Amino acid sequence: MEITGFSDFIGQKRIKDYFADAAKNDRAGHAYILSGMKGSGKKTLARLFGMALLCGSGEDKPCGTCHSCKMAISGNHPDLITLTHEKPALISIDEIKEQLVSGIQVRPYYKGKKIYIIPDSDMMNIRAQNALLKSIEEPPAYAVIILVTDNPSSLIPTIHSRCSHISTVPLPNETVKDYLIKNAAAGEKEASICAAFAGGSIGNAYDFLRSENFREDLGRTMDLIKRSKNLPSNEIFAFSKEASSDRTGVLQILDTILLVYRDILMYKTMGEQASLTFIDETEYIESKARETDYNEIGRVIRSTEELKGRLRSNVNVQAGLDVLLLNISEPVISQ
Ligand SMILES: [Zn+2]
Repeated sequence: MEITGFSDFIGQKRIKDYFADAAKNDRAGHAYILSGMKGSGKKTLARLFGMALLCGSGEDKPCGTCHSCKMAISGNHPDLITLTHEKPALISIDEIKEQLVSGIQVRPYYKGKKIYIIPDSDMMNIRAQNALLKSIEEPPAYAVIILVTDNPSSLIPTIHSRCSHISTVPLPNETVKDYLIKNAAAGEKEASICAAFAGGSIGNAYDFLRSENFREDLGRTMDLIKRSKNLPSNEIFAFSKEASSDRTGVLQILDTILLVYRDILMYKTMGEQASLTFIDETEYIESKARETDYNEIGRVIRSTEELKGRLRSNVNVQAGLDVLLLNISEPVISQ
């Protein structure tokens, strides 16, 4: 479904309210950092804001139907400029100069604003950021620059200090799940699993839904957790060794363990009333809930979360994963 107005965009109500109000009452600032997790719709929000600032309708901007909105939707609005870059992970100083600095002093083609959107703005190197700085410090009255990023800490402090900072928030799992069912033809069960892994991001959930690897890896980890009690240690080490070569893979394993143990905890607390992520594994979850006490469940959840935290600081992942998996199979080693 094409998103042509704020009402088509799911979630992020405060940001939408702010953008709509700023457009309606002509109160937009000159520079924004729009941050938040990957897949949370930041680029779409930036585009809608740009459209709203240029929209010719009196109410409910962007209307999606006026001449300006139609040009924006087709990607041909001369005053709505989205920067592009050639190298996959770098926005160069030349690209900033050619696509922004050199043109920002040229008045808008139509009456009104001129909007620059910089997606992946954290990919600007320091020289590119410094080149941009002057345009942000002394922008022409009509200019609005929106820096979109998953990683705002890569932007230099002088840019931060001159921008208004807006950040998307994670959506509730239910919202993500409903979205997958309604808009991506997902079944109830797979929607629920993808939403649980997505951390509140529709984009992430959508990627999981489309990914064969995700399903395969999930199946393998689930199988390991279920059989862990009867597995020889060397098989656990082999799994851990293979998994540790890939950071994203480890993260998915840890999330799987967390979600399975949350299901176990939920079942232990609420019995059949529990709404489980892994509905297909109810039998395993029920028996595990019966034989495991609250302390033990809490301990696995805590150590998994701890290892997830350590993953960010590049510790020896494999050692951590070895111990965690051994503890799941039989709680004997203290961490
Ligand atoms: Zn319009």
